[in-house]
Amino acid sequence: MTDARNREAAVTIPVYGQLPFVPESASGCEILTQDGRRILDLYGGHAVAALGYAHAGLVDAISEQSKKLLFQSNAVALDIRAQAAEKLTSVAPRGLDRAFFVNSGAEANENALRIACMATGRKKVLAISHGFHGRTAAAAAVTWNSDRWYGFPSKPFAVDFIPRDDVDAAMDMIGDDIAAVIFEPVQGIAGAYDLSGEFLRALRSKTEQHGALLIADEVQSGMGRCGEFFATQLHGIEPDILTSAKALGGGIPCGAVLCTHAIAANLGPGDLGSTFGGGPIAAAAIVATIDAIKNENLLQNVRSCELAIRKHCITGPVIRIQGKGLLLGLVCDRAAADVRSSLLEQDILVGGSSDPNVLRVLAPLVLQKQHIEQFAAALKNVSRG
Ligand code: PLP
Repeated sequence: MTDARNREAAVTIPVYGQLPFVPESASGCEILTQDGRRILDLYGGHAVAALGYAHAGLVDAISEQSKKLLFQSNAVALDIRAQAAEKLTSVAPRGLDRAFFVNSGAEANENALRIACMATGRKKVLAISHGFHGRTAAAAAVTWNSDRWYGFPSKPFAVDFIPRDDVDAAMDMIGDDIAAVIFEPVQGIAGAYDLSGEFLRALRSKTEQHGALLIADEVQSGMGRCGEFFATQLHGIEPDILTSAKALGGGIPCGAVLCTHAIAANLGPGDLGSTFGGGPIAAAAIVATIDAIKNENLLQNVRSCELAIRKHCITGPVIRIQGKGLLLGLVCDRAAADVRSSLLEQDILVGGSSDPNVLRVLAPLVLQKQHIEQFAAALKNVSRG
């Protein structure tokens, strides 16, 4: 029982199927394991490690902030929190000029849905088939197929699912009784399935027509991953509320709900709250992450990596690629789990998805050309296996 996996198994609730290696340290896009392997990480810790590992600007920002002021809650205003909110709203889709900070994607969605119910006074929410929004009560209620693990005796509001990319169904289902429609522009866990621009535009126009709020869940697709700061910007869609987490702090746990000032005007003291949300370490990490994405030209890097992956990685078991930027779904001609195992044997880590034939690439935004060459060569080897 010396291996960390066995020790964790003995003292934690067994809800995770863990990968067969134990990381010791990491730098750039590589993880070094306890037994001396060097693994190319195209998974980025569930799309979290936007700047890769040991990024000097991020590490310095966290370290300096922790020496200066480790924590104060929202009971007081902080310069670093103000900076984080200013920077985040400045890169968000137009109109989203108010931020509320939380700690995770589920917490961001929970609050976004609460805001929508409060703002509209309505009791029904629409989500999109195959979408994932988190594991808290409201976030799980709008997650496709969550009945298998929902766990609570009832859901906090009525929910229905619009079949993805079905414009006619969206037109039929969105009416005056709907508080909000929540969607992921690129459905991450579903296998980086990118919803069509036509469908997204239909959601926008129909919600506007009926006074329902449009919530973009950009927990996975946001913070540069799709080649713009937020994937909705690829389509020129302006949601009423947007949620962010995962890569937001480059690895420090944090999340945010962004909304218009008109929606924020409905809210007052006590309506929302979070002890740790917007803490100084998270705020410093958000500032450093946004600065690095801008200063290191990472949006451009994401776009050129996408082109290179599309050009070189439809090979071996991969027959098609869906998604945007570095949120890509590699559609395989066989079980994705087998391909994933074979790639890991070759020291390359990719993600799985809820689609049994789709692997996910969620690489750090600092990915380099030689990593893509290494990945393409490993995929070719899979085909010989
Ligand atoms: N929304 C999306 C699109 C996600 O992919 C996830 C997590 O995978 C969540 C929400 C939930 O985020 P968290 O695990 O930080 O609660």
